[in-house]
Amino acid sequence: MAHVTIIGAGIVGACCARFLQKSGHETTLIDRVEPGMGCSFGNAGVISTPGSSVQPPSPGLLKDIPGMLFERDGTVTVRWRYLLRLAPWLLAMARGCTTADQKRTGEAMASLLSGTTQAYDTIVRGTDADKLIRRNGSLGIYRTEEQFEDDRPRREMNAALGATQDELTTEELRQLEPSLSDAVTRAVYFPLAYSTTNPAMLTRGLADESRHQGGTVIQAEVLDIRIENGKPTAVITDQGEHPVDKLVIAAGAYSHRLAKMLGIRVLLDTERGYHIELPEIETRLTRPAIHYELACGINPMTDGLRFAGTVEFAGVDAPEHEDRAKSIWRRSKDILRETSDAENPEMTTWMGRRPTMPDFRPVIGAAPGVADCWFAFGHQHLGLTLAARTGEIIGDLVSGRDTGIDLEPFRADRF
Ligand SMILES: Cc1cc2nc3c(=O)[nH]c(=O)nc-3n(C[C@H](O)[C@H](O)[C@H](O)COP(=O)(O)OP(=O)(O)OC[C@H]3O[C@@H](n4cnc5c(N)ncnc54)[C@H](O)[C@@H]3O)c2cc1C
Repeated sequence: MAHVTIIGAGIVGACCARFLQKSGHETTLIDRVEPGMGCSFGNAGVISTPGSSVQPPSPGLLKDIPGMLFERDGTVTVRWRYLLRLAPWLLAMARGCTTADQKRTGEAMASLLSGTTQAYDTIVRGTDADKLIRRNGSLGIYRTEEQFEDDRPRREMNAALGATQDELTTEELRQLEPSLSDAVTRAVYFPLAYSTTNPAMLTRGLADESRHQGGTVIQAEVLDIRIENGKPTAVITDQGEHPVDKLVIAAGAYSHRLAKMLGIRVLLDTERGYHIELPEIETRLTRPAIHYELACGINPMTDGLRFAGTVEFAGVDAPEHEDRAKSIWRRSKDILRETSDAENPEMTTWMGRRPTMPDFRPVIGAAPGVADCWFAFGHQHLGLTLAARTGEIIGDLVSGRDTGIDLEPFRADRF
């Protein structure tokens, strides 16, 4: 059995630690902040099921890019200042928009999504974190019948990939979630989806559990990685040096910087997303509802009602634009009866960096050309969903077991 150091204590790193421990390995999680304070802090909390959430890059997205440059408030926006740096990523995305690429990505993602809720069950059952998991499905919602019909191709693709989904009429939707206002007319129900009522606490709970099981959690920033004889032997942090036996990089949107320390170029960028949270508004909503047109997920959480979403291309280092978070509120408040008439309620705002590759597939597998080192990052809009399954795969890889899944589509050197 090995000692595995994991850089990044977001949901992906924490799940890796738990699965590695289940395989008998010792673990050290290293993060510059407390576990769960990165992108895993403020997401919409949806743990999707196979096929319910696959959306490969499409030619439509490219067509929309000029508009994204001018619409600061749009659901997807590109900051002018970042355009030049984003260009190689955008070009790679553009090259991968063919129907064949979409099919390959769809199938690869469906294979990864398979077993993801079961993977969560494996690590949360019997722990305090289990209380943070809801097992009552999720909804995809539409304002109009026309939008519902326009989105049919996505549902057909997802059905072909194995999605369990029920189309709901307005009446069925009202019965299931009376909180949804008349601004919503149709929905798709994903009965097998899970969700969490607090993604930050879920991540912290898993990291704590790794500690209870004998693992170590260190708060330090990794500044460099020492390589000797083709394998990592130490991580150099702002708190000193830590020897390494085996290494997993799960540093979310910063993982390309860690990969660079190993001499590996990875075409990772970030789709920044925002949330607002309303601590004082009571809701009868019982499961997350994702509004596709607004790119927004609404989820009642332990600390308040959360509206999370939007995409902003501005790089990892740009400051947060608080007004983008508030624009989520302006666009989405009429979706729930409890918020439609609420004026200036108390709210907190947050920004997180989704780690995204140009083909929207994560990077999972051995670091190319470096022994005893694995990558687990780039999970874009599905990082919470895919974290447990990724942890399971990393546990298999480090232990030398067959993962039972084709990892070729997730290679780091595919671009
Ligand atoms: C608005 C929004 C809504 C979302 N909704 C959903 C959803 O409903 N369902 C879903 O599945 N996904 C969702 N996502 C995506 C999901 O949140 C991310 O994919 C996921 O959190 C990524 O997890 P991670 O562990 O890879 O990254 P992170 O949580 O960011 O963790 C990476 C960690 O690495 C650390 N790190 C980086 N560099 C270093 C270094 N040099 N030294 C030490 N530590 C370092 C960071 O501090 C960070 O804590 C959403 C995202 C956003 C922004």
